[in-house]
Amino acid sequence: MPPMIATLVLSPLAALGLWMLARLLRQARSDRLYRAAAQAQELAWEELMRSLHVQTLVLANSGLGIAHVKDRRIQWANPRWAEIFGVQPEHLKGVSLAPFHQDAAGFEAFGREAYATIEREGRFTGEVRLRRVDGSPFWGLLVGSLLVPGHPEEGAIWCLEDISRRVEAQQERDDALKLNQKLIAASPTGIMLYRATDGTCILANEAAGRTVGGRVEDLLQQNFRRIPGWVESGILDQAEAALATGAERTLETVVTTSFGLIRQLGCTFVPFESRGERLLLLMASDVTERAHATAALRESQERYRTVVEALNEGLLIVGPDQHFSYCNDRVAEMLGYTPQELIGRYRTFIVAEEDLGVLESRRATRKAGATEAYELRLRKKNGETMEALLSVAPIQDSQGRFVASPVLVTDISVRRRTEREREQLMLELEQKNKELETLVYVASHDLRSPLVNIQGFSQRLGKSLDEVERQLAGCGSIEDLRTAALPLLRERMPAALEYIRASGVKMDAIINGLLRLSRAGRMLLRSEVLDMNQLLRASAAAMAFQLQEAEGVLELEPLPPCKADPAQTAQVFSNLLDNAIKYRHGDDPLRIRVSGRVEAGLAIYCVDDNGIGIPVEHRARIFEIFQRLDPQGPTKGEGLGLTLVRRMVERNGGRIWVESAPVRGSRFCVELPAV
Ligand code: ADP
Repeated sequence: MPPMIATLVLSPLAALGLWMLARLLRQARSDRLYRAAAQAQELAWEELMRSLHVQTLVLANSGLGIAHVKDRRIQWANPRWAEIFGVQPEHLKGVSLAPFHQDAAGFEAFGREAYATIEREGRFTGEVRLRRVDGSPFWGLLVGSLLVPGHPEEGAIWCLEDISRRVEAQQERDDALKLNQKLIAASPTGIMLYRATDGTCILANEAAGRTVGGRVEDLLQQNFRRIPGWVESGILDQAEAALATGAERTLETVVTTSFGLIRQLGCTFVPFESRGERLLLLMASDVTERAHATAALRESQERYRTVVEALNEGLLIVGPDQHFSYCNDRVAEMLGYTPQELIGRYRTFIVAEEDLGVLESRRATRKAGATEAYELRLRKKNGETMEALLSVAPIQDSQGRFVASPVLVTDISVRRRTEREREQLMLELEQKNKELETLVYVASHDLRSPLVNIQGFSQRLGKSLDEVERQLAGCGSIEDLRTAALPLLRERMPAALEYIRASGVKMDAIINGLLRLSRAGRMLLRSEVLDMNQLLRASAAAMAFQLQEAEGVLELEPLPPCKADPAQTAQVFSNLLDNAIKYRHGDDPLRIRVSGRVEAGLAIYCVDDNGIGIPVEHRARIFEIFQRLDPQGPTKGEGLGLTLVRRMVERNGGRIWVESAPVRGSRFCVELPAV
């Protein structure tokens, strides 16, 4: 505090002291009195100076803002006052207080009230909303009193404290309290607060009334230790236990309300202390409906589970993470796993490798949420493949997000196998029909010409016999008879007989061929793994003589094994080698080459020769029964060999076809199941 201001503040006091001392001096007539007075003056002066010093320090260091205000303008103010308003102390002298109030009206109203109070009561205390020079508002506690009692014209001394923090904290507390009260009132949970000592209820909301039955006013008068029904429901026990241990407790119980209603309540007991008092907060929710709903849900789930478990179909549920979240016993059994081994596995775990691509392309084209059914090969635990029909019905939530996909799995392996067997049977039946047709054709066509021959030549024989008989009857001499009958007996009749015999042989050959064909179709098959190198070597050895005669060369390349009937396979290759020798070209030395390879699970063997070859347009025909490309040619045959070969190859699950050999001649290819 500057000395000038201190002097100003203290001048009335100082003047008063000096005036009193002067009077004392005037009154001191004697030396003794004068000395005493002088001593007293000195002491008073010292006291005055000390007091002045103390007051100066107090004003300078006070946490309160202090100002002398006259005519509502600042006469002087301490540093704290300047600091509160955010001004330099030297800029305050003579400044009006108006700008430090919220507005002009507030300034006027405060002035009227404050000065009227000071004049009336000598002092004013009030909380006022003020402003700093930067415009920011704050709450101030102002205490004012007249500088010289009874002299308002001398102005007033004002003390100011910045109480913004306290006021704001108080307001926040008030707001929080109001919010809490609102929340408690609006809460759907019943809230009751009991005093531990006497058990009285000191707070209850509307929901508490609804939950435990009764009006709020009634609850507020209740002692929780005397509420009927709270003993047998266990609520009282839990309440006491919570209070005794100081730990929170919960309880779900059934209570009968004061109106006789039976309710299921979920209760939470929270013991705590407030202002030295032990309290118990009880929160209670009516869970009757939830309990009913849970029971109904459990019952429906149980029913659903029974249905699912009893299903003859497999059921898998794929969760949002694409892993199996559920599988019933049936599907586990189908695939040879336990349900535990499947649950938690990625959805492709059971898909056969060869169908993984199918599954992926399905996923790419599938419409989100669309139900679909498709066939897929699944892999069993033992490595076997199972053909299955999958019916997928994805479930989505209200926002269209994928929740889960129940997949119904039907084992269609047996059905598919039966279908394939039926198809195979149909194919065989068709083939048999074709063969039958061929037989009918052969019977009606190929057997016809020898038959016509037999008939024709028998008639001719008959006529010749008639002629001989007629001549026997009409001839004169034996010589005449000889001349007439001998040409008949020696030429015509033997010629006719020869034709009849040849036709008989032809018919016999045809019938034999048909029998062999039919036998080849009926022979029992033995499917074995065949070492084709060994089999071909044996066939070649059996033909060694023919080969030597023909001065031919047979090359056997390394051959892969196959699975077929050994006798029939040997027959097939013998026929092919035989034909290669039979239909050789006279100009070139005979060369036969047998090669083999494996392609897509099939063993393919080729027999190449450099013989006369087969024109492209006749290649299909040569496998038909009794078909020969050059029946009048020098090579004898029945046209039955290749028919038998095709029949045997097909019965072993293979096929045969003919191509041109690389240089000249024919190439017969035989395809059989590989090992
Ligand atoms: P066949 O040999 O008894 O005539 P196939 O059924 O074995 O009866 O043969 C039918 C016909 O196919 C033969 O008549 C012949 O014209 C032709 N053929 C078969 N194999 C060959 C071959 N390696 N080269 C040329 N032609 C052949």
